[in-house]
Order: sequence, then C-alpha cells, then structure tokens
Amino acid sequence: MPQKRAITIARGDGIGPEIMDATLKILEQAGAMIEPEFIDIGEKVYLAGHSSGITEDDWESLRRTKVFFKGPITTPQGGGYKSLNVTIRKTLGLYANVRPNVSYAPFVKTKHPNMNIVIIRENEEDLYAGIEHQQTPEVVQCLKLITRPGCEKIIRYAFEYARKNNRKKVTCFTKDNIMKLTDGLFHKVFNEVAKEYPQLETEHWIIDIGMAKIADTPQDFDVIVMPNLYGDIASDVAAQITGSVGLAGSANIGDHVAMFEAIHGSAPDIAGKGIANPSGLIHGAIMMLVHIGQPEVAARIHNAWLKTIEDGVHTGDIAKGGTSVGTMEFAEAVIARLGQKPTSFEPVNYTLEKEPEGATEFQLAPMVKDRPPADVVRELDGVDVFLFNNELTPDEMGEKMTELAGDDFELAVITNRGVKVYPNSFPETFTTDHWRCRFQKSEEQEAVTNEDILGLLSRVEQAGLDFIKVENLYRFDGELGYSLGQGQ
Ligand code: NAD
Repeated sequence: MPQKRAITIARGDGIGPEIMDATLKILEQAGAMIEPEFIDIGEKVYLAGHSSGITEDDWESLRRTKVFFKGPITTPQGGGYKSLNVTIRKTLGLYANVRPNVSYAPFVKTKHPNMNIVIIRENEEDLYAGIEHQQTPEVVQCLKLITRPGCEKIIRYAFEYARKNNRKKVTCFTKDNIMKLTDGLFHKVFNEVAKEYPQLETEHWIIDIGMAKIADTPQDFDVIVMPNLYGDIASDVAAQITGSVGLAGSANIGDHVAMFEAIHGSAPDIAGKGIANPSGLIHGAIMMLVHIGQPEVAARIHNAWLKTIEDGVHTGDIAKGGTSVGTMEFAEAVIARLGQKPTSFEPVNYTLEKEPEGATEFQLAPMVKDRPPADVVRELDGVDVFLFNNELTPDEMGEKMTELAGDDFELAVITNRGVKVYPNSFPETFTTDHWRCRFQKSEEQEAVTNEDILGLLSRVEQAGLDFIKVENLYRFDGELGYSLGQGQ
C-alpha cells in the first residue's frame, strides 16, 4: 500500500469552503493518496493582524509538505494588506504559473469550440519585482527586471511541459521590437532552449498581435510561454473566452514547493448559497495529483468530470438558464461517474513520468549549456546621468554638460522620456522635469572607470545641477549592454 502524501490545504473565504469540501469528497472517493493538513489563510488571518494573510506557523506546514492546495481568498480592501498569492509565489520561488484553458463545446457555450491552450506565465520577475521610485515631482518609474536564470527556468519548464504532455507546439510572446534587451533576452533564451527540443514546433509573436490572435483564433495555439505581465493579462483573457471563469484551475510551480488552486476569486456574491461551480478547484486538484505522482487518480477524476459535463449536469454559471445543480450535487454526480469515460470528449490519459518513489521536489533539467561564463568580459563605455531640472532649456543643458564632460567623456545625447532633445531639439517635443544625459568615453580614453564617473558627478554637483540617478553603460563580451538613445 503506497504511503499517503501530506498536503497543506486551506479552505479559503467566500465560496472557498463549499467548493473545497466538494472537491475533497471527490478526491477521497477517487482514491487519492493524500493526508490533508488544514491551515487558515485569508480574510480572518488578515483581520487578526497578519498583513500577509498567513501566520508564521502555517508557513512551516507549507515548507514541510511542499504542496499547497488552496481555496480562493478575499483580500480586504485598503489597510496595507499584501496579496497572499504574490507573497507565497515570491517567498517560495513558485516561478511557473500554469493555466490550461479548454472549451467544452457544445456542452458549455463558447465562441471558440476547439480551444485547448496552456498558458505558462513567468511568475516572479518583470515589472512585478515591485521596485518603483518617484524620481522627480513629475516622474515615477517601475523597474522591469528580466534575468537569464529566470528566463531559462520558465522557458525550459514550458518545453518540458509540452514534451511530457504530448503537446506539439510552444509559442513565445514578447515585445522585443521595443524592449530589445529585456524582452529580447526572453526571446533569445527561448530560441536557445528550443534547439534542444527539435520534435516541438516553435514560434514567436509580438504580444499585441499574439493577444489579438488568442482572442480571435485560440485553436491555433498549444503551449504559450511569456513574461509575467503579459501572462497575467493573457491568461485571464484565455480563461474568460472558454465559457466560464468557474471552470479553470491553475498551478504555481517552484523547485521546492507547488501551489494549486482555481483561477477565480472567493465570489462573495454567491457565497453560502451552495451554488458555486467547484470545477476550477477540481482542475487544480487534477494538476496537483499529476504533480505528486498520482496520474491514474487524476485521469479517473478528469474523465468522470468530462462525463458529468457531457451528461448535462451543470452548475448555474454554465447551465445558462437550463436546469442546474448545486455545488455538492455536482460533486456527487462526478463521484457517481468515477471509472466511466466521456464519449463525446476525448478521454484523458495522463502519461506523465511518475516522480521517483519518495521524491517531493519537481526536477528541472540542467540549464542551457552555452550560458555566459562567470568571467564574461565587462567593459565600461560611459554613463547615463539623470537630472531633475526645470530651469535650463535643452540647449543650455547641452552646452553645460559638454563643458562638464571634461577629458574623460563626451556628451553623446540628452533625452527626455527617451526622446532626443540635444543636439538639435525640436520645439514641438514635450518635455518633463526628468532628463537623461548620456556620456560616452572620449576618443582619447581607452576605458573609463567608476572613479572617472565619480569625478563627473562631482563636477555636475559643483555646477549646481541636481542628479537623481546614474546608470553605467557596459559592454559584455563586446556586445552593447544598453539601448542606444534616439538619434544616437
Ligand atoms: P471572483 O472570481 O470571485 O468573481 C467574479 C464573478 O464570477 C462573480 O460574479 C462570481 O459569482 C463568479 N464566479 C467566480 N467563481 C465562480 C464559481 N466557482 N462558480 C460560479 N460563479 C463564480 O472575482 P471578484 O469578485 O473580483 O473577487 C472577489 C474576491 O476574490 C476579492 O477579494 C479578490 O481579491 C479575491 N480573489 C482571490 C483570488 C485567489 O484567491 N486566487 C483570485 C481572484 C480574486
């Protein structure tokens, strides 16, 4: 008799307890080998004074069991409460957000009857690093951080997911026509990793047309991988167009811990009525069972669920005016069909490799081999000095900065919000109080150093100008590590 796997479970808020009880009943009847450890998260924990919605003791359960099955929670409005999802993802390194979006026509109404896509969203980086600053009275910034290891992990995860799930194609979405370094790195790593999976078709779309295609012809996609912000938006669009927000589940996967849930929230408008659709959480549970090496149980539940939908047993959200059943009644209908296969839908058969006996951690293949070595040659080309100014005109600033550049540097360009304003400014160009002066090393200089930059900054300071930040301009192995200014 195999050992039961300990799982940390939170029922959550609103409809959470109703759909969790219904789902756990199905898991029990299907023979899932799990040992639940219940914890409290969400509204009442927030209101008891834990601003992240979880107590210290309950972290311990998560870190020990390494698998979290979570009902939706209510985040109280205002009051500095932090999103529990974001906290859990970042603290436990859950870098991959996996969301299958499937339509179930003709049984569930949708404009896209042949949709079956999996969106794999990077979950930790990008603009969600949460590093924001106000630099001048008029200008705020948010840092978009994309790292090579972060790209490698999520992209390799997407290819491995496609391989193990017999998917045919992996698509990448970025905006690298504009963000050539950040999104460019994501696209570059995608191309590198793709070489290791010649059996899979690959393609790349710029995010704007890619999103339009998801909304119009989702059947053309299979697995799609993308950076955090785009994935956040794309996965909600994709879920919505399958027919109901109550249908889809999601997995948040890390190297050590994984979290499974429904994609929807706590639905306070229908809480306590016993009418919520438990299907999203059931799909979360199916992904969890595959993850912990119980694919047969996962398939048994999935096939019974498909048969239930085919047989027209629907909760109110998808019944669309027809007769509907309540949450627990729906679960009972799934239980009654355990062991049966759907006849209209293709039966599911999870052929995932089982994790080795006793394994608790999701294993990734080694990272790409041609990553830059640690001793990569890094040369300093110059510096961008950002100024707060609302007195000098672009030409006055240009003349002043040319003078301050000294022997070490040459003033290459001044931009305002990325638009060139010196030399040769246009009077039509709108400017704010935030200026970037780009200093490149002068012809005579072989190299510049941080000391040269400090000298430049002190000349700027002595001239009474107000610098608010600097960015060093590097080359890595001879390749530019910065985007060129407009008109450079
Ligand atoms: P929601 O997803 O809870 O509800 C949106 C609409 O969909 C509502 O009309 C609701 O009745 C319906 N709906 C949702 N799930 C359903 C289901 N299973 N069956 C039938 N109908 C369903 O979104 P919201 O109203 O914007 O958010 C409510 C709360 O949930 C907020 O506090 C929000 O912060 C939280 N939330 C939590 C999570 C999570 O825990 N992962 C995700 C999203 C929102």
